[in-house]
Amino acid sequence: MATISANLQAVKARIRAAAQESGRDAKDIFLLAVSKTWPPEAIREAAAAGQRAFGENYVQEALGKMDRLADLKLEWHFIGPLQSNKTRPVAERFDWVHGVDRLKIAERLSQARQGHARPLMVCVQVNVSGEASKSGVAPEDAPALARRVAELPNLKLRGLMAIPEPTPEVEAQRSRFRALRELRDRLNREGLALDTLSMGMSDDLEAAIAEGATLVRIGTAIFGERLRA
Ligand SMILES: *Cc1c(COP(=O)(O)O)cnc(C)c1O
Repeated sequence: MATISANLQAVKARIRAAAQESGRDAKDIFLLAVSKTWPPEAIREAAAAGQRAFGENYVQEALGKMDRLADLKLEWHFIGPLQSNKTRPVAERFDWVHGVDRLKIAERLSQARQGHARPLMVCVQVNVSGEASKSGVAPEDAPALARRVAELPNLKLRGLMAIPEPTPEVEAQRSRFRALRELRDRLNREGLALDTLSMGMSDDLEAAIAEGATLVRIGTAIFGERLRA
């Protein structure tokens, strides 16, 4: 169990080094610990090492962990694909949703978040690596979706998110992340105020940070290899 704490320190050192390399302040890069498939005890261990924000992909699994860890006051991010019949528990229990790629999902989240003290933080997911990736709105359709989502009550559109197809080529990694940043910059020039670029995982966080990531989603490098997806 001591390894989770050591792994967290190692990931933070990678973030600092990558930030320094590109002249950025590491404080501008938020670390989301992706705890999907790992038991509540692993999350408790990470929390004891100072980690507050956790990402989960499966609604039922996440709700069980939230109940077990309610004493810790953690911040929960939903990062998996979201079906419209699961929007209510997600809107009620999570703080963030990263994978909004359809207006219908956003509308349902907005409606289900009514009466909550704080808006639900959301990112629009963009498919920056073409047909190879299944989820995310096409880049050309992202501006229209982002503008509609930004107008919905009870949601706060914070930025864009991407899960590019894995590639070992650093330049290919960077070009997808760069595409997401350029889209965010364009939307901001057109009047939105997006402060978040949710991009970068265990294998490509350096490339993501070089291209402006403000939030990296890290699972394996913190918790170890997952036995299932
Ligand atoms: C699983 C997952 C991650 C973490 O990936 P690692 O390679 O284990 O760091 C990040 N983002 C999303 C959307 C995921 O599903």
